[in-house]
Amino acid sequence: MSDVADAALVDDEAAVVRITASGICGSDLHIYDGHGFSPTTGYTLGHEAVGIVEEVGPAVHTVRPGDRVLVTASVACGRCSPCGHGHITLCETGESGCWGLGHALPGTQAEALAVPAADRNLVPLPEALSDAAGIVLTDNLPTAWYGARRGRCGPGDTVAVVGLGPVGLLSVLSAQVMGAARVLAIDLVPGRRAAAAALGAEPIDAEDVRAAVTEATGGRGVDVALEAVGADATVTLALDLAGREGRVSIVGVNQSMDFRMRMVLAQLKCLEIHIGLCSVQHELPTLMRLATAGRIDPSVVVTHTMDLAEGPDAYALFASRAEGVGKILLRA
Ligand code: NAD
Ligand code: ZN
Ligand code: ZN
Repeated sequence: MSDVADAALVDDEAAVVRITASGICGSDLHIYDGHGFSPTTGYTLGHEAVGIVEEVGPAVHTVRPGDRVLVTASVACGRCSPCGHGHITLCETGESGCWGLGHALPGTQAEALAVPAADRNLVPLPEALSDAAGIVLTDNLPTAWYGARRGRCGPGDTVAVVGLGPVGLLSVLSAQVMGAARVLAIDLVPGRRAAAAALGAEPIDAEDVRAAVTEATGGRGVDVALEAVGADATVTLALDLAGREGRVSIVGVNQSMDFRMRMVLAQLKCLEIHIGLCSVQHELPTLMRLATAGRIDPSVVVTHTMDLAEGPDAYALFASRAEGVGKILLRA
């Protein structure tokens, strides 16, 4: 924890949001694992926040002071056409970022946040949705939905989810809402498999996951494999679990520079492979409607609420993947 400069309006299109809650994401762990949670990291961590709008620039039209909002984890530049339509990954100015907050911009695990292009990056949060639901809607649920949507999970499909952190558990829910008949749940941690089972998935409690999935699918493999870890071994596993003409969709953040792939197997199976970063703004309209209607509950993955001042302990707890620890909400 350290003191940083107060948040201020950067231009006429910006807003300042008083943060009431922020979230710790698996993506923060890539930084936490790599550099440690210390003042030398050099920036405020976090890219998931809900709060109250405190101040808006004169060119902001969709939110006003006092509004309860969520801050999208992907940050639109506010000037190019793709960003205007929610396709942050297609930004033409190079000033947006799917990982803008906590990287190019100051992070959300703080008391106040300066948000650029407020009309594009702030979304009013209906009263029916809790802060916990709002936090999950800033990043984890859109990411899971994006992965399942690109994998074209559909009615009657058998889907495997590899990695059952918050993103993986929300992938289970997304596949179910899209009509999957069966969702097979894979993780090294038994408690995480149990959490997926509680959501209606079939946990694969076997040493040899490939053999167990082959058996569970009558030798056919799965229609869709969703990868939500970010390791080479889990990408390989997802590629192996997919059956003929299967779809593999990867959202785990993978920084590998020399991934070795058994091309011949992928080609023989005629696999369809998707990988990418989520443009939260593109997925949110659908998810806000589903969440408000009670068709999907984003808050199910939140297991702990702690104070922002307990940040270092919260990181250690989340990174430990201890029994019963899922998404952690930090209250400002
Ligand atoms: P997390 O760290 O809580 O979850 C990862 C899970 O994978 C854990 O439950 C862990 O036990 C499991 N795991 C690790 N190695 C495994 C293995 N060999 N086999 C099976 N399971 C294994 O993280 P999270 O918050 O759920 O995020 C998941 C991933 O999604 C991260 O890589 C994160 O960076 C990424 N992410 C991507 C986007 C995007 O836009 N693409 C957005 C948000 C998060
Ligand atoms: Zn995230
Ligand atoms: Zn842009």
